[in-house]
Amino acid sequence: CGIFAYLNFNVNRERRYILQVLFNGLRRLEYRGYDSAGIAIDSASQCASDFKFTLSAPPSPPPLVFRQEGNIESLVKSVYQEVGEIKLDLEELFGTHAGIAHTRWATHGEPAPRNSHPQTSGPENEFLVVHNGVITNYEVLKETLLRHGFTFESETDTEVIPKLAKFVYDKANEAGDGQVVTFSQVVLEVMRHLEGAYALIFKSLHYPNELIACKRGSPLLLGVKELTENKGNGSAFEDDKFLSKDGKPRELFLSSDAHAVVEHTKKVLVIEDGEVVHLKDGGASILKFDNNTGENGAFLLRTCSVR
Ligand code: GLU
Repeated sequence: CGIFAYLNFNVNRERRYILQVLFNGLRRLEYRGYDSAGIAIDSASQCASDFKFTLSAPPSPPPLVFRQEGNIESLVKSVYQEVGEIKLDLEELFGTHAGIAHTRWATHGEPAPRNSHPQTSGPENEFLVVHNGVITNYEVLKETLLRHGFTFESETDTEVIPKLAKFVYDKANEAGDGQVVTFSQVVLEVMRHLEGAYALIFKSLHYPNELIACKRGSPLLLGVKELTENKGNGSAFEDDKFLSKDGKPRELFLSSDAHAVVEHTKKVLVIEDGEVVHLKDGGASILKFDNNTGENGAFLLRTCSVR
């Protein structure tokens, strides 16, 4: 019933801080009602900093997923327990970290860890999705995916989404014309098949340090926090500038509700139905999904920058 994400760029943050931001986001979304909660974070070597001195990025280890039925505090407890057990580095990390979080109000499938979000494309967590809403045509999609060899572990309508993303990604790579398919191309293709109401956030093993969000019918907003002094003209968003690769430290938030963002920043952009937000390199670009333009039904709608 609530989705939340946090991405930091070019800034030192402790993993403990990253977890706290995600948990606090969930606590602020609690009032929307929930029966389960979950998060996905990067494993240590998935953070950009680890690639800093290597020429090419090593294959990333899969993102870590924690899911729990019941209240948020029991999720918090189990995460710290597991984090302790797997000796996940709680020290400072430099670079980018992309985490996603969810509070669930079950519509399809009882409250249980397997039905909690993030829902996954499979054991490798190649694609992870948190979802607020209901996918009305999930049965048809599930049948198709089953025919293509996918197996399902949950009773949710949501599980078809990460699996569809993997299907699209694998197909695009099989086509093998050497062109690398982008994360937003994958998500736009997935959207073409979804009916119902949704706000979604995607995280992927194949696109570390990137997040994609999109919505139709359920609420979603983007928050941007600049960590340098604000020397600009004060306008929060500018349509003509792609806030990317300027290297400035920044924190980006996606949320169902402004409640979970205002403690970090007042620069908040409401995302409209049919829009796709791509967070990458500390920047946010917003694409407009257009079902009528065929193959890659999208065009760049607006980009935003903060000064
Ligand atoms: N329909 C999804 C499920 O039952 C998402 C529910 C929600 O919005 O929390 O898992």
